[in-house]
Amino acid sequence: MRILLLVFSLALVGCGSNNANVSKPRQKKTIEVVGKHDRNYPIRVVATTGMVADLVRSVGGERVKVEQLMGQDVDPHLYRANTADISKLNNAQVIFYNGLHLEGKMGDTLDRLGKKIPSFGIGEYLEPSKLLVEEGDIADPHIWFDVKLWSEAAGVVRDVLVAYDPDNADEYRSRAEQYQKSLDALDAEVRGKIADIPEKQRLLITSHDAFRYFGRAYGIEVHGVQGISTESEASLKDVEDLVTLIVDRKVKAVFVESSVSSRNVESIVEGCKARGHAVAFGGELYSDAMGKAGTPEGTYIGMVRHNANTILRALR
Ligand SMILES: [Zn+2]
Repeated sequence: MRILLLVFSLALVGCGSNNANVSKPRQKKTIEVVGKHDRNYPIRVVATTGMVADLVRSVGGERVKVEQLMGQDVDPHLYRANTADISKLNNAQVIFYNGLHLEGKMGDTLDRLGKKIPSFGIGEYLEPSKLLVEEGDIADPHIWFDVKLWSEAAGVVRDVLVAYDPDNADEYRSRAEQYQKSLDALDAEVRGKIADIPEKQRLLITSHDAFRYFGRAYGIEVHGVQGISTESEASLKDVEDLVTLIVDRKVKAVFVESSVSSRNVESIVEGCKARGHAVAFGGELYSDAMGKAGTPEGTYIGMVRHNANTILRALR
């Protein structure tokens, strides 16, 4: 039986302004769960993306059974919940999703479910000052590509599980701590690899703007053909501007993403060729979906490592 009340208290962060043209202060949600788990394990969790599912498994261990809605190659910006997903979601005891509108077409469904099932959009519980914000106060949802920030996301999952199932609080805390140590090591590894690319060659061009947190964290300039969501198409001008940038700066390689059509990147390669600059395909990066389940790239740590290796190999 599920007797749960969720109380979200909103903490105002940042300073406000009356000027409508200035972005509004973001609000950080704080986790508070009233009521407890019924001690029947595993806890039924539903997660949207592979990255979120992997995070919950890493912190929840055997105490949770995680159903992941979006598999390999699935674009979360465009994904719509199907009938089977809705039934899984309705049957969940806890729902985790990325939030910050990553799951753009599932917003209403997740809002509706959140009224009856404890639901957490992880990004909304992070420190707002650490989020990249676009014009119009739109937060970039690709938080998993700053490994340190994702480590804080592990803390969000830990706090939710501790609040929901306090009997096993120590277990969640120690597993989160272990996982965060692995993430610290991963962060250092990626930092080292990107630093191995000569500074003037540190320019990452991909299908859409999924790597801005990666760029900020590891010191590489990033450009996506499409913006932070694949919902809006790239214009001819976006493509031409990138071609000019690549030609001017003699960029060696551009990258495609497993969850996004390679069409735009192909146009860029063609455009550069027409202007006498041969730019190579640097390989495929995992941006908004992990690789195949059961392979190293089918885990968060494996996908990030694959990306760092691919970028290093193509750009150095
Ligand atoms: Zn994306």
